[in-house]
Amino acid sequence: MGDLRGKLMAVPKSKISKSKRGMRRAHASLKCETINECPNCGEIRRPHHVCPACGFYNAMEIVNISEQEQEIEEDVA
Ligand SMILES: [Zn+2]
Repeated sequence: MGDLRGKLMAVPKSKISKSKRGMRRAHASLKCETINECPNCGEIRRPHHVCPACGFYNAMEIVNISEQEQEIEEDVA
């Protein structure tokens, strides 16, 4: 039947061995986020996302970064 302790009913903390606790947490580690290099400018970007540095995706300019920067500067002034 396998080990069903802690799955079917509440089990006191003191009854769970360090080994069993470690087995449960074996898959609990955080994984690194995947990053790719932008083929246009070489900046690091997330896969399936528009490059935040140059605004390119799939070898096309999707977002005009330089125009956006000008708009931000105008808002500040
Ligand atoms: Zn880029």
